Amino acid sequence: MNGDREITAELTPSESVAARASRGRVSLTFAAKTDLGRVRENNEDKFDFWEPEDTGTLASRGRLYAVADGMGGHAAGQIASEMALKAFAASYYAGSSADVEEALARAVAQANAFVHDTQRAVPSRRGMGCTLVAAAIVGTDAFIVWAGDSRAYRITADAIEPLTEDHSWVGDQLRAGVITPEEAETHPYRNIITRCLGPEPGVTPDVKKVPLAEGDILLLCTDGLTGPLRDGEIAAAARGVAPSFACRNLIDLANERGGPDNITVALIRIDAVNPEPEDPVSPAPDAGPALTSELTKRPRWSPFRR
Ligand code: MN
Repeated sequence: MNGDREITAELTPSESVAARASRGRVSLTFAAKTDLGRVRENNEDKFDFWEPEDTGTLASRGRLYAVADGMGGHAAGQIASEMALKAFAASYYAGSSADVEEALARAVAQANAFVHDTQRAVPSRRGMGCTLVAAAIVGTDAFIVWAGDSRAYRITADAIEPLTEDHSWVGDQLRAGVITPEEAETHPYRNIITRCLGPEPGVTPDVKKVPLAEGDILLLCTDGLTGPLRDGEIAAAARGVAPSFACRNLIDLANERGGPDNITVALIRIDAVNPEPEDPVSPAPDAGPALTSELTKRPRWSPFRR
C-alpha cells in the first residue's frame, strides 16, 4: 500500500525492554464472523486480527482484533473498511510509542488520514468512511479503542458490560438525558454517527484499558448486531458455547430479526490469566552494547509481511 512511509518508526531498544519486563499474559480463544444480513446488497463490514509470533512484539504490542463498518455507497464503504483496518494495524505495530493507548490513538489517526486522503483524491470514493472498534490484548489487559457506533462489551458469567460509548447523535442525546434508552432504540436518527474514519482530516478516538480475568468474553460488533438485539440477548448467546458457535448463533439471531444491516461479531474468550512476567529481560551491567545491537538487528514484525 502507499502511505506506509510515515508509519514505520523503529521500536527503540529501551522501550521494548521496558515493555517486556512488566507483563504477564493471557491464553485466549478468538472467533469472528461477518454476514451480509437480509436487506443489504453489499457487506461493508470487515473484521481482521493480528497475532504476532515474535515474543518482543507480543509483549510490547500484543494481539490486535478489530471490526469496522463502512459507509459511502457502492463499493466505497467496503474499501474504506479494508483500507482503514490495514493502515490501523500497520501503524500500531510500527509505532514508536511504548504507551499502548497512545499507539492505538495514533494508529486510528493515521488510518483516518489514509482513508481521508484517498476519498479526497478519488472521485468515486468521495465521502467514504468507516467506524472502527479494536481490542489490543497486551499482557493481562485489553486496550479498547473506537470511533463511531461499533461497540465492545465484556461478558462475564452474570453480566454484560458495555466498554464503549457510541459516538452517535442518539448516544449524545442519551448521555445528556434528553432521550430514554427505549427512545434511543427506535429513534429515527439512530444511524447518525458523530465520529468515524475518513470524512474529516482528523478524528479523536476514545481509548479504555480493561484488566482481564479468566472467563471474560470480549465482544466486538457492528450496529447490525446491536440494532436488532438487546444486550441481555447478546450475552446469553455468547456464553457457554465455543466462540465460533457463539458468533454463528449471534448472526442467526440478528437475521431472524430481519437482518436489516450487515452483521459482524468478533469474540475473544480469556481462557487463562498468568500474571507472571514472561521472558523478563535482565541484561548484565556490561551487556548494553550487545543487547542494543541484537534488538536493533531483529527484524521488525509487520502485518504486511506475513
Ligand atoms: Mn452497520
